[in-house]
Amino acid sequence: MKITNLQNLPQAIVNAVINDPYDGKGSDISATRLLAPPRINILTKKHWDKLEEDAADRIFSLLGQSVHHIIERAAQEGDLSEERVFVNNEQTNGWTVSGQFDYLTKDGDLIDFKTTSAWAVVDALKNGKSEWEAQLNILDWLIRHSETKLPIKVKSLSIVAILRDWSKMKALTSVDYPKQQVVTIPITMWSDAEQDAYVQGRIALHQSAALQEEPPICSPEERWNKPDTYAVMKDGRKSAVRLLPSMDEAKQFIKDNGMSEGKGCKIVLRAGEDTRCAHYCAVRDYCTHWTKVSF
Ligand code: SF4
Repeated sequence: MKITNLQNLPQAIVNAVINDPYDGKGSDISATRLLAPPRINILTKKHWDKLEEDAADRIFSLLGQSVHHIIERAAQEGDLSEERVFVNNEQTNGWTVSGQFDYLTKDGDLIDFKTTSAWAVVDALKNGKSEWEAQLNILDWLIRHSETKLPIKVKSLSIVAILRDWSKMKALTSVDYPKQQVVTIPITMWSDAEQDAYVQGRIALHQSAALQEEPPICSPEERWNKPDTYAVMKDGRKSAVRLLPSMDEAKQFIKDNGMSEGKGCKIVLRAGEDTRCAHYCAVRDYCTHWTKVSF
């Protein structure tokens, strides 16, 4: 993959992006890729030499990596940090799976550090975040089955989120907003059987996709799909009176509320999108799902 510098960033930053220390060597799939949609992995492997990504699109990731230097400074005697573990056993169907955890305290707290936005954390605390839960449970699974037995058994999982855009003023004025720039989010730890079943299911999904000529299109959830909505608009008002999921429901809403379409009100389609495909997928130019809708 070639890193471009279309935004003319300082060369030092571009160099830092290019020298990404990520290393999943020695395994067939990493924990991160196990979580990712199979189609993205397969297209990435297939077109690797032709792929381009702009350094400007890697800045958040660069900031995330900088946290790893902090973790090294945080580790106390008996704690483990930044270790990559490997598993190839009866559950992995011939593959070697690897993953690197951030920080495992001697008391068994497995902690993953993330730099993220304040509102992402507000949402995660309110609604949970299935991706973070799965990621931490995969890491626990790797530690439990690791070829090099670790001296610590995981007892709890958590994310320590460092809020890159935290604002003291918002913290003072908004009830929901995090009061500190660092927030600990407890993560549900699955039973051993649940972790085993989940990891085996993901491996099977990736292995079966790799055998297909056309790997399955990423699901709407994986594409971060936002569906079309229908806005009921009143003349002279900028915001919608109501957003509804279908034209029929929008028409019904107008009727139920004594309004008449075309007489002071109208219905406007707000087109949805596959946000990941449109803005965050490095292989979209090689994906027929995207090329069909965008060209
Ligand atoms: S463009 Fe969309 S559907 Fe295609 S691989 Fe990327 S995320 Fe998946």
